[in-house]
Amino acid sequence: MFVGHYSASFLAKTLDKRIPLGVLFIAVQLVDVFWAIFVLLGIEKVRIVPGITATNPLDLYYMPYTHSLLASFVWLGLGAVGYKSLRSTNWRAGLIVGAAVFSHWILDLLVHCPDLPLYDDVLKVGFGLWNYPVAAFLLEAGLMFGGIFLYLRATEPVTPGGKYAMPIFGVIMLLIQANVFFGSPPPSPTAAAVTALMAYFVLAGVAYWLEKKRR
Ligand SMILES: [Zn+2]
Repeated sequence: MFVGHYSASFLAKTLDKRIPLGVLFIAVQLVDVFWAIFVLLGIEKVRIVPGITATNPLDLYYMPYTHSLLASFVWLGLGAVGYKSLRSTNWRAGLIVGAAVFSHWILDLLVHCPDLPLYDDVLKVGFGLWNYPVAAFLLEAGLMFGGIFLYLRATEPVTPGGKYAMPIFGVIMLLIQANVFFGSPPPSPTAAAVTALMAYFVLAGVAYWLEKKRR
């Protein structure tokens, strides 16, 4: 899953408005950020196999440290403790960030083919919605725009652009999602990892900037 993960960012934002949206954009993709870094370092493995799913060519055959359920609980803890100590804030805020980190595995479970281990590299699960392009795309879109709707309801514009900026950003993210599903496949695992890494940080930067238009 890609842009659908941001539904959890927007939901978390409505629970504690002091947590920057840019931080929550990284939190929900934290395990993918490390997945990309680990792929680049050769610690986790992916193959490009055109046709392996109906929406993307990633054969994610080894990712125990970022995408196992057990590891997800560790990432939850790291997210919670990390945010609480770095921002010297309360446990509630830390746990909201940790939950946002953990939401990644739950939402990935819906779309991934059975490549998500429960622990280490065994007992792999995934409901496989990636093999149903229209359903997978509608799920990503529905989740993301549902999140944006919650965010817009909980905040109000403080600049003239504040009214439309986030919905427009949502449409742009959806176009990126369409390109992932229906565009040409990445030429190599390295290209897939680098593109993902750049996308996560650019989108988080934009979210960080756009949220100044509302409060
Ligand atoms: Zn993932």
